[in-house]
Amino acid sequence: MSNAVKRTSQDYIDLEAEYGAHNYHPLPVVLERGEGPLVWDVEGKQYFDFLSAYSAVNQGHCHPKIIKALTDQAQKLTLTSRAFYNSTLGDYEKYITEYFGYDKVLPMNTGAEADETALKLCRRWGYDVKGIAENQAKIIVCEGNFHGRTITIISMSTDPDSRGGFGPYTPGFVIVPYNDLGALAKALEDPNVAGFLVEPIQGEAGVYVPEDGYLKKAYELCKAKNVLFIADEVQTGIARTGKLLACDHEGVRPDILILGKALSGGVIPVSAVLADDEIMLTIKPGEHGSTFGGFPLAGKVAVAALEVVREEKLAERAEYLGKIFREEMSKIKSHMIELVRGKGLLNAVVIHNKPGKTAWDVCIRMKELGVLAKPTHGNIIRFAPPIVITEEQLREAIELIKDAFKEFE
Ligand code: PLP
Repeated sequence: MSNAVKRTSQDYIDLEAEYGAHNYHPLPVVLERGEGPLVWDVEGKQYFDFLSAYSAVNQGHCHPKIIKALTDQAQKLTLTSRAFYNSTLGDYEKYITEYFGYDKVLPMNTGAEADETALKLCRRWGYDVKGIAENQAKIIVCEGNFHGRTITIISMSTDPDSRGGFGPYTPGFVIVPYNDLGALAKALEDPNVAGFLVEPIQGEAGVYVPEDGYLKKAYELCKAKNVLFIADEVQTGIARTGKLLACDHEGVRPDILILGKALSGGVIPVSAVLADDEIMLTIKPGEHGSTFGGFPLAGKVAVAALEVVREEKLAERAEYLGKIFREEMSKIKSHMIELVRGKGLLNAVVIHNKPGKTAWDVCIRMKELGVLAKPTHGNIIRFAPPIVITEEQLREAIELIKDAFKEFE
């Protein structure tokens, strides 16, 4: 019999500090189990998860239907590569294209890969269909964007932490202020522009919600100039903001739609790019791909994850619960709270940082009380619980959040 001593949270934290790259600064909590909106640490303490792995776990931790799809398929066939056909991919492709209303899907794994795929597709369409001269294509992106961590993606970034010290950068991007239609219209005057890539709400930037009508008007400006409107819905998509897609709030159908995260319910990395044939078929065999993209596990898991979204009416839930959340948060009388903003269950509280009273300190106190959330950009706390959270659980968590803020008065 082993007489191994039970390890503490600190043991796990020390282990990561010693052997892992220091590219993250996590909250000091070590999780080992999750169910629905709840997670437990290695000491058995229970928390409400208000990050949902950056909106990947919209369907809740370890959703039984998604886990069953994973384990059933894992015992039959996991990976074939795209050198051969497999018996799950076609069904998945049919399902997801009908679900979102596009001719074709290109399956990838992470959000960043899906964004890279969209950029390549856009450039190729720019050359083959729009007729832009070789190597001249430009793509307009927004200040404050977050699309991932690859060299090309950070080349479009305006965040010094993401970008600094990693040059030289990929050319071909024009950066305009977010939520500024005048600047977009001006940038669109350039005939070499092939696409406009935008997050319908800027999640990582701190849940910046553009003005009503921005997406619709931006779409119309793009159409007038024969420019592709590309929506990165990796964080906002799949029910998070109270509609299936955040673009649905304004009735906009992107020319290229980028999805990731909740496409697998947070079970395995599954991302996808959707577009119609005129765009998608510009990429030919051998010109793009990924060993794991569209692998048998992904197909089964993604179909199950999307079925859960429909069966459990997650978009409607997010819409309903989000209103309660913002209403209750707005009632908090705290000098630390500057404003509360968001849509559906993607919300943020902007904090007035003071010495010894920062967003980080609030998050530490919330953690002690049993709610996990993480600051972004120093003074913004994002609140995005799994959408399966019940109203009762949400109200319970809100009370804990209120208690945490009280202690900073
Ligand atoms: N796009 C958006 C809008 C995101 O929020 C993220 C991640 O937070 C990504 C892309 C990158 O996704 P991944 O971390 O899976 O590469």
